[in-house]
Amino acid sequence: MAERNALLRPTKIVCVGRNYAEHARELGNVVPDRPLLFLKPPSALIGPDAAIVLPQESTRVEHEGEIGVVLGTRLRKAREEDALAAAAGIVCVNDVTARDLQKSDAQWTRAKGFDTFCPAGPAVVTLERLPVWRDLEVICRVNGVERQHGHASDMIFGIPFLLAYVSHVMTLEPGDLVLTGSPSGVGPLAPGDVVEVEIPGVGVLRNPVTGPAG
Ligand code: MG
Repeated sequence: MAERNALLRPTKIVCVGRNYAEHARELGNVVPDRPLLFLKPPSALIGPDAAIVLPQESTRVEHEGEIGVVLGTRLRKAREEDALAAAAGIVCVNDVTARDLQKSDAQWTRAKGFDTFCPAGPAVVTLERLPVWRDLEVICRVNGVERQHGHASDMIFGIPFLLAYVSHVMTLEPGDLVLTGSPSGVGPLAPGDVVEVEIPGVGVLRNPVTGPAG
């Protein structure tokens, strides 16, 4: 039974696909001309040190280290210049993805939605304590080896634009989580691996990987 993440209780987790040009290319996708949105269910959330459980339905589960934004106040139909004020802070997130199911299914609910497929933590750090959003970095390591190293300045759509864009589709509530996309370097996870997502200034999110239960 997966441990729920006590830190975060979002009504929804809104994600952005292909927000770094190099990552779009590594999966053979075109760079989008507007944000590609999808949802992960809150039931996928786990906290630091909880296990990512590889499901029996997939033979290819991959890490996607990402910069997560936690909403502090409600945001609806916001302008880009007003959007960041609604953020409570930044958190490390892993948008764990069953890559084979993402390709075989017409949409991504299964590929992105398994229990334990949204590790987040270890803390939400306020924007005042961080560099300006463009200077944020996200690093992902598997068993201590760096696999991804992204810079927010390389995002196709920046964080304020993304928050405003999402808020024109759905009202963002306090506690909601927005994942800003994965830089290049995604790769497979195997039982026994330990995967880390680090955002300097925010912390290191560490999760072991286990095989299918029973
Ligand atoms: Mg992602």
